[in-house]
Order: sequence, then structure tokens, then C-alpha cells
Amino acid sequence: MLVDNVLEIKKLTKSFGTQLVLDDVSLSLKKGVIYGLLGANGAGKTTIIKSIFDLVKPNSGEIYLFGEQMPQSVEQYKKLGSIIEMPVFYENMTVEENLLLHCDYMGGQFKGNIDNVLQNVGLINEKKKKIDQLSVGMKQRLGLVRALLNEPELLILDEPINGLDPEGIIDFRNLILSINQTYGTTVLISSHILIEVFKIADTIGIVAKGKLVKEVSKIAIEEMGVGIEEYYLSLVKEGVSI
Ligand code: ATP
Repeated sequence: MLVDNVLEIKKLTKSFGTQLVLDDVSLSLKKGVIYGLLGANGAGKTTIIKSIFDLVKPNSGEIYLFGEQMPQSVEQYKKLGSIIEMPVFYENMTVEENLLLHCDYMGGQFKGNIDNVLQNVGLINEKKKKIDQLSVGMKQRLGLVRALLNEPELLILDEPINGLDPEGIIDFRNLILSINQTYGTTVLISSHILIEVFKIADTIGIVAKGKLVKEVSKIAIEEMGVGIEEYYLSLVKEGVSI
């Protein structure tokens, strides 16, 4: 793979029973990009992301993280931060206790980052609250805190803006842009909310019915003079709703 590719997926195929959910998917993320993986519900976005973490076993294909083939090279997972589906926490523990526990899982490092990341994500006042006192949107933000604690080189976010209120979406957008620009963190973000992802992504991958139908730069779409919704619909045929 190219040295500057943080993530490279080659010819990934996955079936659940007789249902083919990933069909020869290949994609690559260059260092420092924000890559938006767009597609309808059920298109296969989460299955792609779970495959990166070996949570789903592909039938065929290869995945490389930082140039090393996965899942052989487990060390590479430590360079990732992620939110996959709805983040889960210990409900009867506080925000801080959950984050300390997460740091322990990662070998005791990064405890010193907790306050700073809570502050950046707007949750510092919730630090001593138990998880069952948090709203859905707050839990989503906390998922982002947990994903950022280990200063990841690659941040993988599956539908991260689900459950966020308008202010939360704006905060989230600014935070991702700031992390990307300040630390050069590469970001893979999946969503069916086209416009929001288009605002921050510089590369777009469009998934439909298990296929990556297009990988294109944001600039190229803008130069065509079309909006992301129009562009998306021109690629995704009838039968796929968004
Ligand atoms: P959404 O936007 O709704 O999260 P998605 O693009 O992430 O959708 P996936 O969750 O990857 O889509 O699902 C792709 C297809 O695979 C769907 O038809 C789904 O029902 C199916 N699928 C996913 N996981 C499993 C599983 N463990 N067993 C059987 N089928 C599954």
C-alpha cells in the first residue's frame, strides 16, 4: 500500500447467510483527510467499519492500518479512536469513573487528558454525574471523549451525530475540524446525513447496497456545480432511500 495511506481496504466482501452486504469494497484514506462514508440505512457502512476492528470477519479482502495488514498487527488498534453504533458505558458509574476505567484498559496512560477532552467536548460539568443521568446526546458526546482520550492517529466515527441537538451538531463539526487541523488526525466518519458530513469531509465515499459506488474529492463535487444531495441521488439508483 502507499506509505501515506493510513487505512486501505482492498476488495472486501461479506455475506450474512445468503445476503451479500459488502461486495468488493475498496477504499483508502490518506493521512490527514476527513473521509465521509455516505450511504442509506443498511448500505453496509457499519459492516465496513466493524471489519476494520475485526468485529466482523470478512469473507474475503484485505485491510491495512498504517501499512500493516490487519488483524495480525494488533498494536495498530492502539492508534485508533472510535465510536461504533451507540457508545455503551457503565450506567451506575460516573463519567469520570468510566473514562478512568477506559484509560486503565489502555494500559493506564492518558488519564491526564480526561479534563481537557471533557472541556473541549462540553461535558466538563458532567464529570461527576452518573451515566444514567445523561441525555442521549450527552452520551454521544461522551463517546467522542472516550474516542479522543488516547490521542488517536485515526478517528473512526460511525453515525456520530445521531442523537445530537443542533448545537451539538455544530459543536461536533467544529471539534472534528479543529482536531484534524491541530493534530493532523485522520478521520473516517460514516453517516446518512449527507449535508453535515459534506461540510467537514474532504473526501467522500458513497456506499449503496454493499458497493462503494464512488470515491471522490469534495472539491471535484463542488467543481461540478452540484450539491451533495443531488450528486448522491445521481449515483444511487431507485430502491435505495436516504
Ligand atoms: P445504518 O445507516 O442503518 O447504520 P449501515 O450502512 O451501517 O446502515 P450495516 O449495519 O452495515 O448498514 O448493514 C448492512 C446490511 O447487513 C443490512 O442489511 C443489515 O441488516 C445486515 N447486517 C448487519 N449486521 C448483521 C448481522 N450481524 N447479521 C445479519 N445481518 C446483518
